[in-house]
Amino acid sequence: MATEYTLDLTDFPHAASTVLAVTNSGTGVWDRDIVSGRISYSVEWKAILGFDAHEIGDCIEESYTRVHPDDLTRVQATIAAHFEDRTPAYAIEHRLRCKDGSYKWVLSRGKVISRDADGKPLRMTGVTTDISGTVALSEKLRQSAELLTALTNEVPGLVYQYRQDADGSARFTYASAGIDNIFGISPADAAHDAALAEALIHPDDIDAYRGSLAISAATLGRWHLEFRVLLPGGLGERWREGEARPRRLADGSTVWHGFISDITAHKQLEHRLHDAAATDFLTGLPNRRQIMTRMEQELGRIQRDPAALTAVMMFDLDFFKTINDRHGHAMGDEVLKHFSAILQLEVRKVDSVGRIGGEEFAIILSGADVEDAARFAERVRARLADKPLKCGLANIAVTVSIGIAAMLADDESINSSLSRADAALYEAKLAGRDRVKIAA
Ligand code: GH3
Ligand code: MG
Ligand code: MG
Repeated sequence: MATEYTLDLTDFPHAASTVLAVTNSGTGVWDRDIVSGRISYSVEWKAILGFDAHEIGDCIEESYTRVHPDDLTRVQATIAAHFEDRTPAYAIEHRLRCKDGSYKWVLSRGKVISRDADGKPLRMTGVTTDISGTVALSEKLRQSAELLTALTNEVPGLVYQYRQDADGSARFTYASAGIDNIFGISPADAAHDAALAEALIHPDDIDAYRGSLAISAATLGRWHLEFRVLLPGGLGERWREGEARPRRLADGSTVWHGFISDITAHKQLEHRLHDAAATDFLTGLPNRRQIMTRMEQELGRIQRDPAALTAVMMFDLDFFKTINDRHGHAMGDEVLKHFSAILQLEVRKVDSVGRIGGEEFAIILSGADVEDAARFAERVRARLADKPLKCGLANIAVTVSIGIAAMLADDESINSSLSRADAALYEAKLAGRDRVKIAA
């Protein structure tokens, strides 16, 4: 590293220590007569190494004995390069031995100030600065950085510093090794441009990601987001949870310090629990709660668009108690599963079928009027009759009663259409079961 050396000592031919004194600054000067091999040092120069004014000789060979053996080759090569005029100045950091035998880091800078006609160097002067404090500090810093890196790399997740400049460009100014697991990219790639990480965010979550960061930057509020990434190499979809605090810098850029962790396992469990809470265990159909939620959504749709149609159907198996009594509860369960399979065969994707009670089922037929629903109901009855459940060699004959009602835009709640369908079902039971009734 050759630094341009600007201190011109031409006006100080003897480099007299008194003239060149730089009091207590940890800086000393030297003046070397290359031809005679003599070098003179200022008092301050000698003081750096703990020597008194008279304690150091002026022979260049002696001066080399004070250079740390591990640095000597480098020092001499650097001087040689400058002697040969390959560098504009001489500058090197190296160690010098003090009077007490310990070594001190110094920065030595110098320049040949006169050459003969052939360019051979005649005289060189320079400055030596004690940098042992700086070196110790930088060693301390290096150790802190190493500790930080070691700690953050051990954390199962990504510890990071993210910087967004005023022009919108962004990058991870610090990323722990966990970025490989979180985004499938290296810290070096992320330091270059955050776009590489952003490209891996799930298309359905990227707007939320950018939007939440923009809000955090604008309000300087905490950033928190659960989002998905699509990892390269067939690793697929993974859930991430990010949390960071922003700070605005003087140049208008924003810096976040934060943490992103892998919450895939939590999310999978959450989804399983959610599904379990919404599903009837025996038939695998949506349960009563789920069907009610679907009815709420459907009522909302109808109220927004009064031209929209929806029919609500209630099914209740006939004399089911007798089936249980005759064939046993386990067989009764099989009948319930058999009936739910028939319903699932008949419904379209837009419809919702669920088990709302013991042997009671409901269907929301989206976009259907009561006549459509009645035709649907007859198909279910026919299929149930055609495909009775086998019990040994015998068949278990099951029939069903069905009540139908239209969901109306001016219904106060989902209970309105549910009660009408229930009343129609009751009518079907009263009229002899195994039939369909439409609410009046
Ligand atoms: P109706 O024609 O009037 O509907 O007569 P029903 O016997 O079907 O009506 P009821 O409501 O009296 O009986 C329903 C029976 O369903 C009673 C209950 O033991 C049975 N049941 C409820 N849940 C289950 C279940 O999960 N499995 C089985 N096997 N039976 C159930
Ligand atoms: Mg019943
Ligand atoms: Mg019944």
